[in-house]
Amino acid sequence: MKSALQVMKFGGTSVGDASCILRAAQIVAAGARAGKCVAVVSAMSGVTNRLIEAAKTAQCGNAKAAITILEELAAKHESTLAAVVKNEAERAKVIEKMKEVLAEGRRFCEGTALLRELSPRTLDAISSLGERLSAPLVAAAVKETGLSSEPLEASDLIVTDDFHGGADPLMKETREKSQARIFPMLEKGIVPIVTGFIGATREGELTTLGRGGSDYSATILGAALDATEVIIWTDVEGVLTADPRLIGEARTIPNITYREAAELAFFGAKVLHPKTLKPVVEAAIPVWIRNSFDPEKAGTEITPKGGRNGGVKALTAIRDVTLISLGGPGIVGLPDVVGRTFSTIAETRANVLLISQSSSQNDICFIVSSGDAERAIEALRKEFAQDLKHEKVEHINVDPNIAIVAVVGENMRGTPGIAGRTFQALGKENVNIIAIAQGSSETNISFVIEEKDVRKALLATHREFGLHLDKDGK
Ligand code: ADP
Ligand code: ASP
Ligand code: MG
Repeated sequence: MKSALQVMKFGGTSVGDASCILRAAQIVAAGARAGKCVAVVSAMSGVTNRLIEAAKTAQCGNAKAAITILEELAAKHESTLAAVVKNEAERAKVIEKMKEVLAEGRRFCEGTALLRELSPRTLDAISSLGERLSAPLVAAAVKETGLSSEPLEASDLIVTDDFHGGADPLMKETREKSQARIFPMLEKGIVPIVTGFIGATREGELTTLGRGGSDYSATILGAALDATEVIIWTDVEGVLTADPRLIGEARTIPNITYREAAELAFFGAKVLHPKTLKPVVEAAIPVWIRNSFDPEKAGTEITPKGGRNGGVKALTAIRDVTLISLGGPGIVGLPDVVGRTFSTIAETRANVLLISQSSSQNDICFIVSSGDAERAIEALRKEFAQDLKHEKVEHINVDPNIAIVAVVGENMRGTPGIAGRTFQALGKENVNIIAIAQGSSETNISFVIEEKDVRKALLATHREFGLHLDKDGK
């Protein structure tokens, strides 16, 4: 029988300070003593944001301010190291590694400031420094527990395409590289601590998988290494029925299907990066979401079938989105407007979250992540320049003050009346609905509302479907 292999991922808050790192190291050590264990770590919380700030500051020509940020980060990691690692020789080794990484960062910032130009490639190189600093720190903490452990840079393991800032893995190459590197370490009893968030192209150019991408790193490695399970350790007990920051009475869901979790992630549930489940679907590797601050709790298990309970499982909202509409009466006679619109958008790699077209065909409206909006609009204006000039297309309008709310559950299929109940509950609260979409899989109903109404809409729907109640209905 194949021996068990766990891939564990620790998010930013789970390695946010010395005490968190010590707790994470204990969890890794327990996993490694029970079987084989590979850990994937994020940057310490807040670090990636600061690095991006440093990169943007450098782009404005201010190398000094950018370097001040790097120095501040160096101090933060060094003081954490001092609190975590008692062994002086080990500490010196980690400091040496950190200095190397930060010197690279410094050169990137100086180059950026000199040219006043920040390419996606350089932004990746700078924003990835946080993981390259945290992995040696966590490996040293694991060593303190008495085990052998080594940091690994995922640029030596995960092979990606060259889409900087949101790269996707090339699984065949990733599988070969990661198995060749990691299996011999595991055989020798060494616990690998891998940097989350990053990969590299076939040519060895560093890439990042997108913000929050360490979850994705974990499942990519889980699939590449044929892991028995992937455990995502975070700062909440699991996947909750709604964002606990918005809905205090949200509850932990014990089990959920891949499809449900993927829908929640796609529509903004921050607990999972939207692409997290993609790599593990084929091999049906279970993914757990657990609380690193309360490791006794079971958390949420995500599996192909999930639990059979309930129609509506959870709600989610995505606020950082922009509605784009394109149309006017003239588009009715214009061939292939829909095709041209979406192939233009696809070329910009903008993430389209919802599409709706009025039956009169006067208007196509769709929603993209706000970060992608500018790029998408610019590309559309270019594509339809002639049509806009000749008024065949009258307008390309943009509304950033909206949000999408999604009601998610696989068993909604075959449960009549869910849409009716949802919209009635919203009506009672005077929430104005701008557009509605239901996936043909009937795993979600999503609707567009004004951003200011999000909390009200979530609360009303959460109550309507009794998501605040425990399994006995209390
Ligand atoms: P990490 O740093 O571990 O990757 P994140 O901050 O990315 O953690 O994700 C965890 C956070 O996601 C939680 O603290 C919670 O506020 C938020 N969140 C949003 N929606 C949900 C949900 N449905 N279930 C659980 N957490 C959610
Ligand atoms: N550190 C990266 C970020 O903040 C990746 C992650 O934490 O998952 O986006
Ligand atoms: Mg995250």
